[in-house]
Amino acid sequence: MSRPFDAIIIGAGQAGPSLAGRLTGAGMTVALVERKLFGGTCVNTGCMPTKTLIASAYAAHVARRGADYGVMLDAPPRIDMGRVKARADAVSANARAGVETWLRGMKGCVVIEGHARFTASDTVRVGEEQLSAPRIFINVGGRAAIPGLPGIDQIRYLTNTSILQLDRIPGHLVIIGGSYIGLEFAQMYRRFGAAVTVVEMKPRLVSLEDEDVSQAIRDILEGEGITVRTGAECIRFAPHADGVAVGVECASGDPEIVGTDVLLAVGRRPNTDDLGLEQAGVKTDARGYIQVDDSLATSTPGIWALGDCNGRGAFTHTAYNDFEIVAANLLDGEQRKVSERILGYALYIDPPLGRVGMTETEARATGRKLLIGQRAMDRVGRAVERDETQGFMKVIVDAEAKLIVGAAILGIGGDEAIHGVLDMMNAGVPYRVLQRAVPIHPTVSELIPTMLGDLNPAV
Ligand SMILES: Cc1cc2nc3c(=O)[nH]c(=O)nc-3n(C[C@H](O)[C@H](O)[C@H](O)COP(=O)(O)OP(=O)(O)OC[C@H]3O[C@@H](n4cnc5c(N)ncnc54)[C@H](O)[C@@H]3O)c2cc1C
Repeated sequence: MSRPFDAIIIGAGQAGPSLAGRLTGAGMTVALVERKLFGGTCVNTGCMPTKTLIASAYAAHVARRGADYGVMLDAPPRIDMGRVKARADAVSANARAGVETWLRGMKGCVVIEGHARFTASDTVRVGEEQLSAPRIFINVGGRAAIPGLPGIDQIRYLTNTSILQLDRIPGHLVIIGGSYIGLEFAQMYRRFGAAVTVVEMKPRLVSLEDEDVSQAIRDILEGEGITVRTGAECIRFAPHADGVAVGVECASGDPEIVGTDVLLAVGRRPNTDDLGLEQAGVKTDARGYIQVDDSLATSTPGIWALGDCNGRGAFTHTAYNDFEIVAANLLDGEQRKVSERILGYALYIDPPLGRVGMTETEARATGRKLLIGQRAMDRVGRAVERDETQGFMKVIVDAEAKLIVGAAILGIGGDEAIHGVLDMMNAGVPYRVLQRAVPIHPTVSELIPTMLGDLNPAV
């Protein structure tokens, strides 16, 4: 016998709980199944703890630079990793408890703890219990990918989850993977006082970004004493008396790096391998991501996939937007599409990179005529006053449509300032609207109209 509901939601990540709120609000009975931590990756092992740790690392960085601002400290600042960790733990725990309390108090929602697996297209098993519903929403997220590199099974390594348990500072942290997650940990731990080496297989860091952005990020990190090894081939591991020996054949540099600790940050994989999807006829792609159409419906009628597991986004805000799309279509009679989403995101090194739309490389590949504007951050009054002038901003405009197609702001406040551009792109208005705006002084945003007033044809 299965227990009937109007809807089943698998996963209490960034889409599931809000969807439960809308569905129960519309009078449906909902079973929400969570196998581990309420709030999912973002709250427990992703955005929230990392950004809290980054805030501690920033405080340490500014304290060390005190004299630059005329603030004299009597002794170099000391990091108490126990307190740093406790702060991050508290922020996560608070948010996790908030999600759990909300769900448990939600009228019409039954919270079931355990691992859910499909047994049919309308049935899910959790432990001994069988649940059924005409609508099932999959919000199972992803986890760190563990690469099958030689020697990996002989060493102890950290992932983005286990590194959060550290209450000590590694002597030398070797990070495999020079992309978004790896670089945030690299700078954070460098600022906590660890020696840090980033090993990246590709020829440059964050290779999805433009080359100039990539290079500026490398300069910032190397400027803080982080060693960057790009073009690393044949990465392999072996136990070493001091920790782990990481073999790398790079274009230059030692063929072996000895670290006290190794962090694997080589990407994520969806939690779809143990979900019984085949029992429900739900198709995945070669990498395990659930295939969805523009409304996030899967190949099986009555089943939707939201968030990281559908491969259409890899962020908290994209997972939440998936919820908005599904809820609007099911409950509000709308016809929203995921393809209408203009993607923005940030890389939270300091200074951060705020990004929206296409990179210059992607825009050039479309073959359209482009106008490009660029300004160094040392032209920004706010950056000069704060003595944080690293980075630059860049905007790419479709020369014929006069619409902004993408932008990058690598610099102080870049993650916030990029929203001026993001909002204009969502409004679909010509770039001159933003160029003629009167921004507040002194802010980072005030240089965006200046930049737009000085566009040059891309050659
Ligand atoms: C280190 C790090 C930093 C990040 N920083 C940012 C950031 O700054 N900004 C940003 O936008 N994004 C960031 N992200 C990405 C962000 O965390 C994810 O994109 C987001 O959490 C995805 O949400 P989701 O709802 O798809 O899945 P998740 O949040 O992963 O939630 C999925 C939930 O499903 C549960 N589950 C899985 N399988 C089952 C099952 N079979 N049965 C029952 N329950 C199941 C899991 O336990 C989990 O609670 C970061 C990620 C990492 C790893």
